[in-house]
Amino acid sequence: MNKILDGKAVSATLKDETKEKIEAFKKKYNREITLAVVLVGENPASQIYVRNKIKAAEYVGIKSLSFTLPKSVSQSETESLVKTLSEDQSVDGILVQLPLPENLDQGKILSLIPPEKDVDGFSSQSMGKLTLFEKGIAPCTPAGILYLLKNAGIELNGKNAVICGRSNIVGKPVALMLLKENCTVTVCHSKTENLEEFTKNADILISAIGKPKFIKADMVKDGAVDVGINRTENGLVGDVDFDEVKKKTSYITPVPGGVGPMTIAMLMNNAYLCALRRETGGF
Ligand code: NAP
Repeated sequence: MNKILDGKAVSATLKDETKEKIEAFKKKYNREITLAVVLVGENPASQIYVRNKIKAAEYVGIKSLSFTLPKSVSQSETESLVKTLSEDQSVDGILVQLPLPENLDQGKILSLIPPEKDVDGFSSQSMGKLTLFEKGIAPCTPAGILYLLKNAGIELNGKNAVICGRSNIVGKPVALMLLKENCTVTVCHSKTENLEEFTKNADILISAIGKPKFIKADMVKDGAVDVGINRTENGLVGDVDFDEVKKKTSYITPVPGGVGPMTIAMLMNNAYLCALRRETGGF
C-alpha cells in the first residue's frame, strides 16, 4: 500500500469512470443528466466550491443549472426555488451550497429536497436512511473518505475508528458509514476530555475539526485521514501535522490533494446515481 493516500489521483480515475457511466446513461435513456446548484450570498469559499463543482460537472458530462441568490433573500423565496427545482422533472439533482446565511433555516430548506434528488445527502430523510443503513445517497465527503480507505485496501472490519468532529456533513455521517462497515466507532468533539486517550488507540483516525496541525504525532497510532481545510498564511493546511504524523502512521491523507478532491468526485457520482435511480425506480 502507498503510504500517502493520493486523493487527487484516485478522484481523477473516479471522475473518468463516472464520465463513462454518464455517456452510457445518455445513450441508453436518450437524455441529459441535470444538476441544479443553488448559491446564496457571496461567501468567497462557497463561490470557489461552486465553481469547482460546475467545472467537474462539465468534465463528466453533467449539465448544470446555476442559481445565485442575494444574501438578503428571504426564507420563503429560497424555499420556493428549491420546491420548483424539486418538482421540475428535468432536474436530477439539487445542491444547496452550505453554509447558508444565518437568517435562513438551513435544515428546513435542505429537507425540501426529495431523497431522489438529494445529491449531497444532507436532508433529514437522507440522514435517516443512512442511520437505518438503508439505500440512499451518502454525503460526499464521508463517501469520499470510505472510497479512499477501501481503494487502498485498508481493512475496516472490526477496526477501532476514532472520529474527531461531530458535524452533520462530516463527523456524524462518517461515523455511521464506518459503523456499517463493522468498525468500532468513537466520536470525539470539543467537550471530549483527554482527547489523545481516544486518538492514540485509533486504527483509523479521522479528523474533521478545522484547526491547523492540531493532531500531533504523539496523538496517533496507525492511520490518519485529514478532512480539515484551514486557510493560513502558509496556504492550505490540514488538521493533522502531516510531516510529523506521516513518520509514525502506515497511511495518511495530504492536504491539499487528499479528501478534498474526493468530495467533488463523489458528488458527480451521486448526481449520476440520482439520475439512474430516477430512471430505474431504485429509491
Ligand atoms: P464544524 O461544523 O465546524 O465542526 C467541527 C467539529 O470539530 C465540531 O463537532 C467540534 O465540536 C469539533 N471540535 C472543535 N474543536 C475540537 C477539539 N479541540 N477537539 C475535538 N473536537 C473539536 O466543521 P465541519 O464542517 O465538519 O468541517 C471540519 C473541517 O473539515 C473544516 O476545516 C472544513 O473546512 C473541512 N471540510 C473539508 C471538506 C473536504 O471536502 N475536504 C468537507 C467538509 C469540511 P463541537 O461539536 O463540540 O463544537
